[in-house]
Amino acid sequence: MTNYGLPQLTSHHLRIEVRAQTPLAFNRQPGGQLRGALFGVLRRHYCPAPDDPDPGHSAVCPVCWLLAREDRGWWRGNTPVRPYAIEPPLPDRHNGRPPFHYNPGETFSFGLTLFGMAVNLLPYLILAIPEMGRVGVGRRLPENDGHRGRFTLISIRCVHPLTGEEQILLGEGGTTVQMPTLSVTTGDVIAAAERLLGQLNGRLRLRFLTPTRIVRRGQLVHRPLFRPLFGRLVDRIEGLAREYGDVSGADAKPALAAAEHVELVCEDIVWVDLSSHSTRTGRSTPIGGFTGRATYAATDWSLLLPWLVWGTLTHVGKNAVKGEGWYQVGE
Ligand SMILES: [Zn+2]
Repeated sequence: MTNYGLPQLTSHHLRIEVRAQTPLAFNRQPGGQLRGALFGVLRRHYCPAPDDPDPGHSAVCPVCWLLAREDRGWWRGNTPVRPYAIEPPLPDRHNGRPPFHYNPGETFSFGLTLFGMAVNLLPYLILAIPEMGRVGVGRRLPENDGHRGRFTLISIRCVHPLTGEEQILLGEGGTTVQMPTLSVTTGDVIAAAERLLGQLNGRLRLRFLTPTRIVRRGQLVHRPLFRPLFGRLVDRIEGLAREYGDVSGADAKPALAAAEHVELVCEDIVWVDLSSHSTRTGRSTPIGGFTGRATYAATDWSLLLPWLVWGTLTHVGKNAVKGEGWYQVGE
């Protein structure tokens, strides 16, 4: 089997279903708020010495290993590619309320993807999720006396997004955690891409579920043009594989050359302007991007599809870790 120039990478996909216990609301980037809550809990509860500067501790403490990857300046002056990504809840347009607002008793779900050896952190992450619900997530609400909304866990499942298989890791009220048996490998991605290739007749549609922010040579790209999108996708997958997988034998050049010939034939895109305010630096960073659908035409998708299928799991562009740049592939 050809590997289409793809690097080797493995991912585990957790799907977490919860029930709001109090009014609960996120801002327009719920992935960022879920991530903040998760890291707060990990830092407080699952590291025995969060302020220990001893490198001996951070070499053996899995929580510090993950948290160190959140630190600017940790790796050659840049934030390293993080070994996880969040799949945020998606806006529900049918309940008559603003997006990401839940009443007590309502349920919602979100995903947590772990790349490579980050799966070793799974026991901590699974314990941290019900604790996030006790502490509260999202916005501080007047109807909660200024507290964040609380939730209880319904279930944590491990899913295989390409085959639909799933396994319950922790059920409601459960105390025993199953170890996951389902993971996605580059081989699974190639098999899914080959199945999809048989269904295409020259056209491919991408559906951008969350704001997708693509930058090319320092310039923000406001339309879902294929080549810049594909370039950032290759950067993302190669970056993850370099840190958490294996890039030996990988070569994206033939796919990047093929991407030059893909045409954007139809777009139904909405630009979502968002900004992220840091209380630490006092600065606002723009994080918006496009959502909606785009259709592309190419004479041969075979080199491109495996990367595009991996990208449905890794996300693409800025803030992929917080769930931005999450898209689906279809005919
Ligand atoms: Zn630690």
